[in-house]
Parts: sequence; structure tokens; C-alpha cells
Amino acid sequence: MSWRDVMCGEPRPEHVGQTMTLAGWVARRRDHGGLVFVDLRDHTGVTQLVVNPEHSPGAAETAKEIRNEFVLRARGGIVARAVETVNAAMPTGAVELQVDELEIVSRSTPLPFQLDEEGVDETLRLRYRWLDLRTPRMQRNLRLAHTVISSIRQTMDRLAFIDVWTPSMTRGTPEGARDFVVPVRLQPGRFFALAQSPQLFKQLCMIGGLDRYYQIATCWRDEDLRADRQFEFRQLDLELAFVECEEVLDVLEQVVVDAFAAVGRDAPTRPFPRLTYADALAKYGTDKPDLRFGLEIQDATEVTRGSEFGVFGSADTVRYLVVPRVYSRSELERLEEVAKEWGAKGLAYLVYDGDEVRSPIAKFLSEGELETFRSEPGATVLFAAGDEAMVARVLGGLRIHLGRELQLASEEELFHWVIEFPLFERDEQTGNWTFLHHPFTAPIAGHEDRVAADPGNALSQHYDLIWNGWELGSGSIRIHRSDVQQDVFRTMGMTDEEAQEKFAFLLDALAMGAPPHGGFAMGIERFVALMAGEPNIRHVIAFPKVSSGSDPLTGAPAHVPDAQLRELGIRLVEDAPS
Ligand code: ASP
Repeated sequence: MSWRDVMCGEPRPEHVGQTMTLAGWVARRRDHGGLVFVDLRDHTGVTQLVVNPEHSPGAAETAKEIRNEFVLRARGGIVARAVETVNAAMPTGAVELQVDELEIVSRSTPLPFQLDEEGVDETLRLRYRWLDLRTPRMQRNLRLAHTVISSIRQTMDRLAFIDVWTPSMTRGTPEGARDFVVPVRLQPGRFFALAQSPQLFKQLCMIGGLDRYYQIATCWRDEDLRADRQFEFRQLDLELAFVECEEVLDVLEQVVVDAFAAVGRDAPTRPFPRLTYADALAKYGTDKPDLRFGLEIQDATEVTRGSEFGVFGSADTVRYLVVPRVYSRSELERLEEVAKEWGAKGLAYLVYDGDEVRSPIAKFLSEGELETFRSEPGATVLFAAGDEAMVARVLGGLRIHLGRELQLASEEELFHWVIEFPLFERDEQTGNWTFLHHPFTAPIAGHEDRVAADPGNALSQHYDLIWNGWELGSGSIRIHRSDVQQDVFRTMGMTDEEAQEKFAFLLDALAMGAPPHGGFAMGIERFVALMAGEPNIRHVIAFPKVSSGSDPLTGAPAHVPDAQLRELGIRLVEDAPS
């Protein structure tokens, strides 16, 4: 006995006359007073079963009991449907299975939701994820993820990368997020960190002569969950020795183009455009701009020096957007709210409505200023003034908001690189220098001395890959000199003792024959979600967490018994949230 001869999506007219066994789930059951029709489903599709009491009384008896999502095995002859009942919308729609024998293999309790039901609460779907996984959406997405990953592996193979496993339980790696920590029974009071990425291990692989490493690595980061973030996610993590920036970018472009081919889509053209960090921030207000629409930010700092409009005259930076639309006062108030969310105090504007300029600030602006901002009728100029970072953030936020609202983005898939990031930035809280990428990123050639002498003006060999405004991944050429690495730690305010305490292994390794090396990590779930046209990476992950960070399916995270805590040397503080 075999469970099935063909999959539910396979019967075709050429099978007519053959006896076959099918197995699958009941998608629908219709009782036509005697005749019972059942849509039997698996991931390949649906075949209609016909149970006729005159033909098979036993099967007809069984058919009375079946409900949605029961698992059945049915044996019978494939027959052609009558012309008027052919369903052209179904690949199997020209035939049906005339049931001889019907077996209920497994029953289902009443369902918490129907598979094709709209608007089901997502927590409920995740609580019963095994049901949700049966939907065409999840089937398509997880299979797409598989196709993408197997394409990545083939590309890596072709380019001579070897798959090396690195530990998940390690020391904290500074990747800019909090660590998840793991207590250790054998050493109470000590903790592993779950790897935020295999960063240092892959560098050690290069120092160890492996030449080209890759891994589809799970990474853990304790950050708030968002559409493109979960606590755990996978990266295509790779590293190459004796490499320059351009060669790393070339590898990633091949990965992307091959993956598009694997899923049967037109690949983006190579090479992907490059944009410097400084340009990205000035023109788009963000280091991950969506370039599918223009609406570029323009600078008015020079023209507004000494402006009679005090807000402009005294600001570090004044920039503006020209939006191809006339806004009413109430619409402008709404946009002001958006601007405030990004840190603006208000939103100055000029509305070019026919011959008229509507604006409370126009009367303070000089002829020269007005000349600069003059726009075609039917446009609105929106300003932000203040410190540069805030201005970029506000106009970048407004630009994305307006791009969405006015549906400005073109249909194309746009990949591009952002390059030449600064090596350091000021930590907003402490005022200390901190890294933009991670502390192992090399300065560009000639900027090594700036690490100690002029950190704010050191550029780095860090690059980001952006797809339609989503950051797909980051990478860099690494520091391969122990002295430069130590300078970076010092600039970050680490004493030599602290650096030794945390990174002795790296400093030692860098001092024992480290080849120049660099690499990259691309977020698999982000890549697949964009490929699938999904707005949230949850939809391409089999068992994701909800935004509060819990897993509705298993109920994790959960309490552990006191005895277990004691063994780990852990005592909860009294007011720990229950
Ligand atoms: N470890 C980095 C990250 O996870 C990627 C890299 O620099 O290769 O973002």
C-alpha cells in the first residue's frame, strides 16, 4: 500500500482511465443530496473527489463524517468531467477522482479560523501556525526562501567559498545591539552571549588561511521587533582574504542576480549604482534611501544666512523638499505632525497655488530667497531648519512619507550601494566616539592616522546594500593590523586593559600573520520578504515571534523552576515582572 500515487495538484486528462490513490487535506466538502464533492488539497494543488453512494456506498457513509482539514486517503478512477463542469481556473479542473475507497486518516477539531479567512488576528494565526503554514501564502513564501537559499549556496560554491560552522555561544560581539545571554550550569555567574553575528570568527577563519568562508548563519540580537527585525534571523555571512572592496561588492551582486534567476525573475542590472554616505544623507536624509522616486532634498543654508526669518537665519542647516502638489492648511498641519515625529519643532512652507504664494513666512523672506525657492504653480516647498542630523532625519522621514502617500515609487526593483561611511560617530548619550558599523572596519587608505588624530574625519571601507529603501546588509574591509585595531579601541574610549580583556584573541591573531580581508552579511529574511513582496519578515519565517517578543505558539519566553535557577546561580530580584 502506498499513501499516494500522485500529488493532489497533478491529475490531468492523460490520467483518465487510471486508478489512483490520493492523500491530502479536505479544503471543502459539498453535499449535493447524495453526491458528495470534496476538494482534496496538498501543497501542489487541489483535486476534486466525487463520492457517489450508488457507485460506492461505503465511501458515501464515510464521506458524511468528513469536515474541513481532515486528512483523507482516496482511491478510485480518474474520470473526465462533463464539459459544463470543467473548471478552467484549476490546473486539475478537467478531471476528478471517482472514489471507490475512502479512508479518514486523521480528524480535525473545529478550526480556530478558516484557512482562507480574511482579517484573522495575526497572534491567532501564529498560535495555530501549523494551520497557517497550510495556506498558499506561507507555502509560497517558505518555498521561495528555500529556492533563494539553495541559489545562494550554489553561487557560493561556484565562487569557491567554503561553508564553515562557527559557535552560537560566544563572547559578546559588538554589532550595535544588546546580547542575549546564556547562563552556564558548570560555571554559575558566568554567561555566554549568543552571537550577534559570526564577525570575529570569520575574521579568524581568514587569519587561519581558509581564504573564502561563508555560512547561512543564525544571529541573535536583543532589539525591539519591527517589520524587518526579529530577535533571531539568518544572514548570508561571508568573508574573503586578499580582497578589495570592489571584489566583495561583485560577489554580492552575483548572489543577488543568481537568486533572481533562480526564482524566475528579471535580474537587476549590474553593477548596482554606488552612492556615498554623504550624498545619501544630503539628498535623501538617510543612509538607506529609496531611490525609486526623486523628491531630492535641496540645500538652502547659504541663501538663508542672515535671513530675516529668524528660524532660518540662525540655523546650522536649512534644507527643503519641493513636493509636486498643492496642500491645504489642514493637510499641512498633518504633515507638520509627521515632521514633529522625526524631531522637527515646526514645518515652514511655501505653497505655489496658481498665481498666489500661500505662506506665513513669505513676508520675512528676501527676493533672493524667494527666487531660490520659486516653483511651478502646483507645488509646495517644505523646510526643515536646525542641526544637520535633525534636518536630514526630518526631511528624510517626510520624503518617505510623501513618496508612499503620493505613490511616487516606480515599479522597478532598485538595488544600490552606499559607500564611504564615516568610521566613527558621536554616541548621542555619552558623547564618546563610537563605530558606525563595527570596530573592526578599516579606515580608507590614507586615513589610518586619523583614527587617533582626527576620528570625526576618518572615512571607512564600510558598504551597505540597499533594496528599495531596505538595508539588505552591511560589510567592510577589516582592519588587519593590530596597531590600527588598538587605535580604534582607544578612540572608542577603551583602555588597553579593557581591550585586552575583551579582545586579546583578536589582537593576538592580528599580530600573527593576518592577511588583508573583508566581507559582508546579507539578511536572508529581508531579502526573501522583498522577493515575495511581503511587508513584514514574519511572513517568510516559519515560526516567528510577535512584536512584543513572545512566541504565541509555544508560549515562550517562559518562567523556569527555582531549582533550575539555583543550579545556574541566578536569583531573580523580588520585583521581577511576573
Ligand atoms: N558582521 C556584520 C553584520 O552582521 C557584517 C559584516 O561586517 O560582515 O552586520
